[in-house]
Amino acid sequence: MERMEQWTIDLRNSVTGGGPLARDFGADAEEIDAVCRNYPMRIPRYYYNLIAEKGDPIWMQSVPSIREMMDESAPEDPLHEEEDSPVPRLTHRYPDRVLLLITDRCPMYCRFCTRKRMVGRTSTITEKTIAMGIDYIRSHTEIRDILLSGGDPLMVNDRKLEQIIARLRAIPHVEIIRIGTRFPCVLPSRISDALCDMLKKYHPIFINTHFNHPREITPQAREACERLANAGIPVGCQTVLLKGVNDDPLVLKELMHKLLMMRVRPYYLYQADLTRGTNHFRTRVERGLEIMQSLRGYTTGFGVPQLVIDAPGGGGKIPLMPDYVVRFDEKEIILRNFEGKEYRYPQADQPYVKDTRDVELINF
Ligand SMILES: *Cc1c(COP(=O)(O)O)cnc(C)c1O
Ligand code: SF4
Repeated sequence: MERMEQWTIDLRNSVTGGGPLARDFGADAEEIDAVCRNYPMRIPRYYYNLIAEKGDPIWMQSVPSIREMMDESAPEDPLHEEEDSPVPRLTHRYPDRVLLLITDRCPMYCRFCTRKRMVGRTSTITEKTIAMGIDYIRSHTEIRDILLSGGDPLMVNDRKLEQIIARLRAIPHVEIIRIGTRFPCVLPSRISDALCDMLKKYHPIFINTHFNHPREITPQAREACERLANAGIPVGCQTVLLKGVNDDPLVLKELMHKLLMMRVRPYYLYQADLTRGTNHFRTRVERGLEIMQSLRGYTTGFGVPQLVIDAPGGGGKIPLMPDYVVRFDEKEIILRNFEGKEYRYPQADQPYVKDTRDVELINF
């Protein structure tokens, strides 16, 4: 028997039914439990304790809503992750990198999750699917970047996780290994010294975590992120733009500043996906663009995430930008700065010659 790690004990104490929510906040336990039968709930006590009142941004991310059940016509897998999958639980969409799912469990079941179809429900990820994924990567020498995801890959215990990472690191063409995890935000005790000591043996390791609201940034979350950074792991953050949670320029600016204070670099800001059971979180695209405009120029350049839409139908992440180009022709480009003032940049005095080395890459 392995010694129980603190985080596994913490995880066992999670809130998984409506009872505590009814007792502490006067919620409708029956309604919550009815939704849970379809889409499971798990809220670590640590995260639960951040709820200040019913319906606040912490609540909305973690507590089931009846609206999840009123979204029956939306697609279950809008990003076609399963169709772009040469072996089960591996998605090879981009030329040089793959997404490999190593678990379908999470410390918390975020109500807006893109993979709501699978997380915490059926278990389709096994030692065998992971081994098939690793074999696929080994036999495709163009793959240089592995993104471990799930579920949350840190649900896998340190020993098993190390086995997976070590096998990937042994593949000569694998350059970087990335882990996407929400643990620093929802259960920071997972980020132990033992975990960091293990991960840093396999550098370059990158972590992308997931914070959506400044209230999630606590002393414990900060300690977890700093521990990762101190292990030499660059930590990024992927944030989802969520109606009623963070669709507000001031909230997001505060979040970005707080991330930087704990050495986490904002990476992507996602327009919410079309996933069934999550559409009540979607915002208008204009809102995302307005928020980007309110950040760019007004705060640290690397504190501004890239707004993206993960294209329905499996097109990958497509960047969106407020339009800073007023006019662009042979002679000049007229640009608008962050304050709305116009500036002119003359073209270099030489003919434009299209670079045709790789028409797929350079297709301007
Ligand atoms: C997001 C994603 C990646 C990684 O994309 P980056 O833009 O490099 O962060 C790779 N594969 C799939 C299928 C993805 O969804
Ligand atoms: S931790 Fe990530 S994968 Fe898990 S429910 Fe939340 S968003 Fe989905």
